[in-house]
Amino acid sequence: MKFTESISDVIPPQKVEEIMASIDRSEKIVITTHLSPDGDALGSSLALYHYLKSKGKKARIIVPNSYPNFLKWMKGSGEIEIYEYNPEAAKHILSSADLIFSLDYNISKRAGDMGTTLDESPARKILIDHHLFPGDNFDITVSYPEISSTSELIFRLLFQAGKYDELTQAEAECIYCGMMTDTGGFTFNSSEPEIFEIISLLLRKNVDKDAIYSHVFHNYSADRFRLLGFTLSQRMEIYHELHSALIHLSREDQAQFRFSKGDTEGFVNYPLSIKNIIFSTFIREDEGLIKLSFRSQKSFPCNEFAAEFFNGGGHLNASGGEFYGTYEEALRTYSKGLKRYEEKLKEAKNEL
Ligand code: 5GP
Ligand code: MN
Repeated sequence: MKFTESISDVIPPQKVEEIMASIDRSEKIVITTHLSPDGDALGSSLALYHYLKSKGKKARIIVPNSYPNFLKWMKGSGEIEIYEYNPEAAKHILSSADLIFSLDYNISKRAGDMGTTLDESPARKILIDHHLFPGDNFDITVSYPEISSTSELIFRLLFQAGKYDELTQAEAECIYCGMMTDTGGFTFNSSEPEIFEIISLLLRKNVDKDAIYSHVFHNYSADRFRLLGFTLSQRMEIYHELHSALIHLSREDQAQFRFSKGDTEGFVNYPLSIKNIIFSTFIREDEGLIKLSFRSQKSFPCNEFAAEFFNGGGHLNASGGEFYGTYEEALRTYSKGLKRYEEKLKEAKNEL
């Protein structure tokens, strides 16, 4: 058996053809991501970017705002443009593009202020994403919430288009990084056997998976590590009867540890390591808003919780939201919400 035969056509072949034809027809192509781009948003974008450049396209990546240092090792990351730093220039590029890719987000609102410019651009638009409820203003929509990551979808797109042989080591590394970060190092959302067949295909491109793991997960500053210790020892509440844990940081707490962007990435995962905790929440006071992250196990729908109380959404077991009010109000809203979800929390706990 040829090892490549076992990857199924998740994206309908006709759609793959349409996307490749759109690329062929376009000259100026812009790839965009959601606010605070993560490993998957950047991994998928950079992999596609390198592919487009190899085809001689004038490709660019524009992200709404900055991203953490531990993602800057990826090849091409220095060429990423940040909308927030120069909105006028970015608007010009977006409005004169032939083709715009929206990667790793479902609706333009998730791209912050840049979303309006995207909506207004006359460019052809292609969505490639794995969040629920894709918007309806795309010319081509590739949306598969059951797929681990957008990076996996980029792999599938190129693979299905017959480009596996051309896939470079750099592209494979970016795809691997996105798949790894969106599955917490393959510890959740990653039980689908084909994921590992894809990884096997990536490893054949000389991806050093241990080095990528180190770049991303062993790259803490001392301040970040101390902030983690402080958060877990001083700012964690456990609600045993509700099988839930909360961690929270005020701006003052963050300042004490010279917080910089990305420092709290992954913090929300830690409380899930506690026995019988199925729902973990992280509330962080940001500038002008309160940012929330949720993680859950089994059937507990943290995306519903995020949508109901915190203007958010995301996946069943990993979601986020925002709160416009004081830090104390956000904490109170969380407590109220938790009580309302008592039944679902108990149901999910019984599945453990
Ligand atoms: P994280 O906690 O890692 O920031 O985000 C986890 C997941 O929740 C991501 O897949 C992301 O798409 C989703 N998410 C995070 N913040 C928001 C938000 O403010 N609104 C919505 N709709 N989804 C979010
Ligand atoms: Mn993703």
